[in-house]
Amino acid sequence: ELFHRSSESVHLQSSKDSGHDSAEESFEFRAEVQRLMNIIIHSLYSNKEIFFRELVSNAADALEKLRFLSLTNRTLLSDESLDNLKIQIDFDPENRTITIEDNGIGMTKQELINNLGVVARSGTLNFLEQLKEQKDSSLIGQFGVGFYAAYLVADKVSVISKSIYDKAYVWESTADKTFTVKEYADQSIGRGTRVILHVRQDSTEFLNEHALRQLVDKYCRFITFPIYMKVESN
Ligand code: ADP
Ligand code: MG
Repeated sequence: ELFHRSSESVHLQSSKDSGHDSAEESFEFRAEVQRLMNIIIHSLYSNKEIFFRELVSNAADALEKLRFLSLTNRTLLSDESLDNLKIQIDFDPENRTITIEDNGIGMTKQELINNLGVVARSGTLNFLEQLKEQKDSSLIGQFGVGFYAAYLVADKVSVISKSIYDKAYVWESTADKTFTVKEYADQSIGRGTRVILHVRQDSTEFLNEHALRQLVDKYCRFITFPIYMKVESN
């Protein structure tokens, strides 16, 4: 499951030169994911803060997967790097970004394409059904599509990821039915995943230390990995 490399991706168009691997490629989201993202962006206004719970729990899952893998493959990680598994939260009011970063298992290029866009997840349709009954976004995680909760507060999401099995790639989408994947410019970054939320005007309330600290208090009590956040200097 972890290293599932299905190639059933829908390849739209590519600006790729033959033989050159660093150009950007575009992909189409699955139709039901397009519908889901559209609803998330345009009609879910309550409980927007659960984006934080979903992204932090994905970060914790990624750390747990790495820890588990290192148990069966002892040479994978040094003891020091096992002790240093963590989640880092950052925000930048000027650039209007919130960043949730982990040094967990990361995703290969194919995993970025599959996991964040093209592989069917049974929960998507069930969640859409549930939204017809009740517009409760907070259940999103239970349907296995929690990542898209990022679009409750962001109009663009960038995911930079580095798996030990691949180069670093960046996935990006403005929820316009498509997403792009390209090699990340800085190949010296460490293993893990950085999710950058480009925060919408209507979600500015989350772009400060106080709000993010409150979300950590509220949603991260059961996260077993350390969570760090920059502190505003005064
Ligand atoms: P779920 O967590 O229930 O599987 P999500 O929509 O939250 O569903 O995430 C979809 C998938 O994307 C995850 O199963 C995982 O494979 C991948 N993913 C998301 N965030 C990360 C991350 N921070 N690190 C590694 N993989 C991730
Ligand atoms: Mg999740």
